[in-house]
Amino acid sequence: MATDTTQQSLSDWDNRHFLHPWEGMEDLGKNSRTFITGGQGIYVTTTDGQRLIDGPGGMWCVQLGYGNAEIAEAIAQQAKELGYFSPFSNTSPVSARLAHELARRAPGDLNHVFFTTGGSTAVDTALRFIHFRNNLLDKPRKKVVITRRKAYHGSTYLSASVSDTERTRVWFDQDHENVCFLPDVNPVRRRAGVSVEAFLNEKVADLENAILTLGADRVAAFIAEPILASGGVIVPPEGYHKRCLEVCRRHDVLYISDEVVTGFGRLGHWFASEPEFDIVPDIIICAKGLTCGYVPMGACIISDRLIADISGDKSKGAVFSGGFTYSGHPVAAAAALKTIEIFERDGILEHVRNVTPLFAERLATLGKLPIVNSTRGKGLVGCVECGDNSLAIDQKVGAQIDRRCQELGLILRPIVNMCVFSPPLIITADEINKMFDILERGIRIASDDLMRQGLK
Ligand code: PMP
Repeated sequence: MATDTTQQSLSDWDNRHFLHPWEGMEDLGKNSRTFITGGQGIYVTTTDGQRLIDGPGGMWCVQLGYGNAEIAEAIAQQAKELGYFSPFSNTSPVSARLAHELARRAPGDLNHVFFTTGGSTAVDTALRFIHFRNNLLDKPRKKVVITRRKAYHGSTYLSASVSDTERTRVWFDQDHENVCFLPDVNPVRRRAGVSVEAFLNEKVADLENAILTLGADRVAAFIAEPILASGGVIVPPEGYHKRCLEVCRRHDVLYISDEVVTGFGRLGHWFASEPEFDIVPDIIICAKGLTCGYVPMGACIISDRLIADISGDKSKGAVFSGGFTYSGHPVAAAAALKTIEIFERDGILEHVRNVTPLFAERLATLGKLPIVNSTRGKGLVGCVECGDNSLAIDQKVGAQIDRRCQELGLILRPIVNMCVFSPPLIITADEINKMFDILERGIRIASDDLMRQGLK
């Protein structure tokens, strides 16, 4: 094994051998990524000793921050006791306990937990389960999944098929046969003169019209993130999810709520579906914050109703042949149980609800800055959208702001002309102020940069 770990070697190895997610092929092998070597609370440290606030909270997942010794110990303890078992025929105390704890916290009758390796595999599982169920119910034509423009549900074939990133659309194959896209639900983008209420009616009608056009006998499910996260923190108009659920119920279409980002406290509740959006979906997807990001795990939580009519004497002897070697992994389950315990003991959900008004107030004031054209967010997730709809500035502005903020001590997640952030939920009021102070300065400097480059 190579032991030469100078910074130069690491960079070379990273460039030559580590094919990163969303790798830009043009720059392959030419990147100079920052190496993150450690973290404590909301901060991470780099090889050259810089201490940065982690604005995106990992990838919307490090809810309790970095260096949490209790989670680390729970993981180590479980690895020593039982590092793995096969979930196919046996089970383990931690996984059974975790399934129980999730069912207790999930809304309504969502009581059946299928563990996966992350969010994408949980979305895939939900879609495969629904197809399986409809086959068993003698509805083999009922397979279409309705999704939305700007949705992101994952990177496996099926979850990517119900996602709408431009790069996937242009360069990858997707399953188009069983997928239908509805237009964007961003109220900021509504046509001039259209009220938010009229926009809401239009969006709900889009769903109902799609079901009627395709035929309810063909439409199996509607999948939606409560807030479109990677698509740019798009918060639909109030009442949108509830009314979409009513449409689904009217036409025997299942409602899948993808809570990979909004679950586990991001909006101040275990799940956003209830109480925030006042819905009990048929399936909830969660991942990320479930284990605080320390080890991979996802879950697809299915209602009693969906299981009842295909189990026992109604099962026709069928087997749900879906499962992962690591479904219900005991080490991940131990991390999730510890996460839940800390959330409860330290009042994390209440804390998020308490600091949300400050976060929202600071976010709103960014709207007055040059080059910012809108700000939006909910709970502890925010987005600053910049640019002037001229391609030149729009392509550069997110990365430019991120670069300037990193110099000042804050990491962001740039997405074309947007910067997105979802800090660890343990962030204090002082730290929120510090984060927004840096962001404000970073945006001002980036704006001057663009002006100098003649892009503004
Ligand atoms: N659903 C949503 C809403 C997500 O944001 C993501 C990841 N960003 C996924 C699914 C996929 O999760 P994973 O990367 O764990 O597969």
